[in-house]
Amino acid sequence: MPHRERILAQVEAARDELAALTAALVRIPTVNPPGEAYDVCATAIGDWLAAAGFDVAYVPADGRPEHTAACPRVNVVGRRPGRSARPCLHLNGHLDVVPPGDGWTVDPFGGLVRDGRVYGRGACDMKGGLAAAMIAVEAVRRAGVELAGTIELSATVDEESGGWAGAALLAARGLLTSKTVDFVIIPEPLGVDRICVGHRGVYWTRISLHGRVAHGSMPFLGVSAVEAMGSVLEALRKDLAPRLASRRTSVPVVPEGARQATFNVNAISGGQVDHPVQTPCVADRCSIIVDRRFLLEENFDRVREELASVVSQAIEGRDGIRHRIDELLVVEPVRTPEDVPLVKALAAQIEGVTARPATLVASPGTYDHKHVARIGGIEQCVAYGPGILELAHQPDEWCGIDDLVTASQIMALTLTELVGVARS
Ligand SMILES: [Zn+2]
Repeated sequence: MPHRERILAQVEAARDELAALTAALVRIPTVNPPGEAYDVCATAIGDWLAAAGFDVAYVPADGRPEHTAACPRVNVVGRRPGRSARPCLHLNGHLDVVPPGDGWTVDPFGGLVRDGRVYGRGACDMKGGLAAAMIAVEAVRRAGVELAGTIELSATVDEESGGWAGAALLAARGLLTSKTVDFVIIPEPLGVDRICVGHRGVYWTRISLHGRVAHGSMPFLGVSAVEAMGSVLEALRKDLAPRLASRRTSVPVVPEGARQATFNVNAISGGQVDHPVQTPCVADRCSIIVDRRFLLEENFDRVREELASVVSQAIEGRDGIRHRIDELLVVEPVRTPEDVPLVKALAAQIEGVTARPATLVASPGTYDHKHVARIGGIEQCVAYGPGILELAHQPDEWCGIDDLVTASQIMALTLTELVGVARS
């Protein structure tokens, strides 16, 4: 049998094992925040990788403030060298999940397998993807295919909260950079026939207004920051929103509504802190958090200036109001070129296995691609993995076992093609 057929058969033969591995990972409640059980999950994956012939290293996020005794940030990296160090394909998945939230009809951490689906928080985003990547590499070995280049597989922490103690840390420490790695696949739940080539940029800010406190029975003696913030919110809606809606990107961002620049007011707070006991005061402070998503075609300096000018115009003429804008997070957009070997190989295998053409998409939000590209300097990085994106972070999250198998087959064939076959 040609090696392609043997690899496909080995993944198919591991169908139950793949579902069970996904369920086992779901049962480890790696909830972020605060970042629970990371070490348990990293060890489970590390033990599995060691048994599958990987050299395994644990990378705790020493020196990061979020790496605490109560919630240690531990990453795991496995490396299975082929005949040569290059080409090297690195599979990277995050092991953290968001809190379950309300509305579940099954145990979010029960790892229930029923009717061809694995249920639980993280089944789709993205323990299913991690399990599919693990089985993909193992299936190649079971098929008796000796690879020419090297395979790496890492499970990293904190993607849901920015990835600084996770993928960013690996890149900063030289474990995920273009010095050793040629290709990166992140098995996020994009669907089995879609390749995600990048994401929009993020500009997160806190806009704070300061007025003057006074007795609430004599509001004319003070200056209300809450009222002034009303003008800022109105300006964002009436002035900024239509401008952003008119800007379209050529990057294939999904869903369609995210193919333009957007903003969201994530939070607002003002006046006295909410407490059962209140005293009558004019609100002398008010702040909002603005989450602006920008396009590859937008220049970041312009994005920053535009927001600042909308805010200062909104409060112009309001005596006694001061403002400041604090930057909380800036992420530049990233995009992998569509004609590189990684995208071509993956697209060909998607078509070969599913008999459907691959669709190239980009993410409305960000994920660890930014660290791979910006810190690691790796040009060829995509997200590709099983699961339906819209189920991520939802109650009763699930991943279909057919999708797990299909994505695992496609990953196995793609990695084999990209790192090359030494002997089959
Ligand atoms: Zn994810």
